[in-house]
Amino acid sequence: MSKCVCVIAEYRGGNFRRVTHEVASEGRRIADALGVPLQAVAVGSGVAEKAAELGRYGVEKVFVADDPALEGYIAETHTPIVADLVQKCDPAVVIMPASVDGKDLGARLSARLLAGLVQDSTEIVVENGKIKAKKPIYAGKCYCWNEWADGEMPLISCRPNVMGCLAPDESKSAQVDKVEVTLPEARSSVKSLELDTSGRVGLSGAETIVSGGRGLKEAGNFSLLEDLAQVLDAAVGASRAAVDSGWRPHADQVGQTGKVVNPNLYIAVGISGAIQHLAGMGSSKYIVAVNKDADAPIFTKADYGIVEDLFQFMPVFVEELKKYKSSCS
Ligand SMILES: Cc1cc2nc3c(=O)[nH]c(=O)nc-3n(C[C@H](O)[C@H](O)[C@H](O)COP(=O)(O)OP(=O)(O)OC[C@H]3O[C@@H](n4cnc5c(N)ncnc54)[C@H](O)[C@@H]3O)c2cc1C
Repeated sequence: MSKCVCVIAEYRGGNFRRVTHEVASEGRRIADALGVPLQAVAVGSGVAEKAAELGRYGVEKVFVADDPALEGYIAETHTPIVADLVQKCDPAVVIMPASVDGKDLGARLSARLLAGLVQDSTEIVVENGKIKAKKPIYAGKCYCWNEWADGEMPLISCRPNVMGCLAPDESKSAQVDKVEVTLPEARSSVKSLELDTSGRVGLSGAETIVSGGRGLKEAGNFSLLEDLAQVLDAAVGASRAAVDSGWRPHADQVGQTGKVVNPNLYIAVGISGAIQHLAGMGSSKYIVAVNKDADAPIFTKADYGIVEDLFQFMPVFVEELKKYKSSCS
């Protein structure tokens, strides 16, 4: 019989990622609605030392696999170990991050656990003791609600930055159950060597994103966005047109065939607002657009619009922000 809600934690660079706190908080809410305990699964190198911290977000017990070989996500190594730990939890429902790694892991777990997967969910509810999960479809033009047949286990990945975090209760800690695992034999030559963030803020969990499009005209002009990003401690993103032009790497692309982001503030500079771009950023809390064409579709989504030549506007905007910041400090 199913006994708990299980959340899958994402651990990187010695810490749980913010999205782990979000799924734990959502897990707590669901567990309370179902009247069952909340447990977690955490896999990584050095994760055992930190696992009790998940108690601050309502997790009661954490099953941990800790091994230096688990530094960095490798699908073939992580999938069987996470699946084993999830089975130890014997969950009624599994909730996990819809991060880049989480989406990959989710699909693999779904096959292994024979669980129905809803990826990139933005809302989960419990109705009459049954789970329902909402997710965007058709590039964000509509939403659909999903439910599971009796006896089927829901596996839900949650879009980062959508589900709110509980205020951490520092007095609470989770019970940690360290499980000895046998690492699967390497079936590929992939090894995770090093995590190089080069001091840049990552797009997926960023609170603020400054994105540029074809209007920037050439790669070098992205320095205008990097200046702004530095002032705002933001990540830099790009439209597909900018990526296809070779101005930015594909990892920076926001949209239907890039990353789905959900920051508090998204500043779109020289981006028209094609539906495929909106699919990746349309749920941002505040959208600011800078575009010289007052009829650009991005303005239909924007909370604040600046109809201006970006080459005139951006340097002045950055200078004024710098002055404002130094007057505050
Ligand atoms: C299957 C499919 C998947 C796709 N996936 C994605 C995706 O993931 N992400 C994505 O972004 N796109 C995606 N696209 C492409 C999408 O349809 C658009 O072509 C693309 O988003 C356009 O990028 P853009 O807004 O930078 O360029 P444009 O549409 O060319 O817009 C440039 C804008 O810059 C403005 N501008 C120009 N000069 C200035 C200036 N000096 N000052 C101020 N503004 C200026 C213009 O007014 C214009 O609005 C996809 C398309 C398909 C068919």
